[in-house]
Amino acid sequence: MNNDEILSTLQACNTPKLNVVSVEDHWERGTHPFTIGTRHVVHASDNHSGMLGEATLRAIPCAARNCGKAYDNPVHKSIKIAMLDVAAGVTQDEYSQWAGGFQSVGAGLVSGVGFPGDGLKHLKKAGIAR
Ligand SMILES: [Zn+2]
Repeated sequence: MNNDEILSTLQACNTPKLNVVSVEDHWERGTHPFTIGTRHVVHASDNHSGMLGEATLRAIPCAARNCGKAYDNPVHKSIKIAMLDVAAGVTQDEYSQWAGGFQSVGAGLVSGVGFPGDGLKHLKKAGIAR
């Protein structure tokens, strides 16, 4: 599932005060996006009519400096974070209702939840976060 598909799935759990607004890739220390270089472009041109697709990504290693690892190497894997907008005045009951849905629908789709803006402040005020 790509991030937009995960977002659509998670948004089924949205409530008036708790809305997943985006799903973002987070690169942990020691990881980075697989990097396209000139060798990929040449390979695609020579073998795939210029279409730079998965076949080329698997044939030519990462072009990032000091990497050279394969496309499937875990160093090229991000974790996914759901960004949850939390409105002021949210209650523990409202949060519990959202969290129950999120756990049943979203388990395994994302590795964590982030709180943009004042979301964490609102959760602390409601006694949900410390
Ligand atoms: Zn790399």
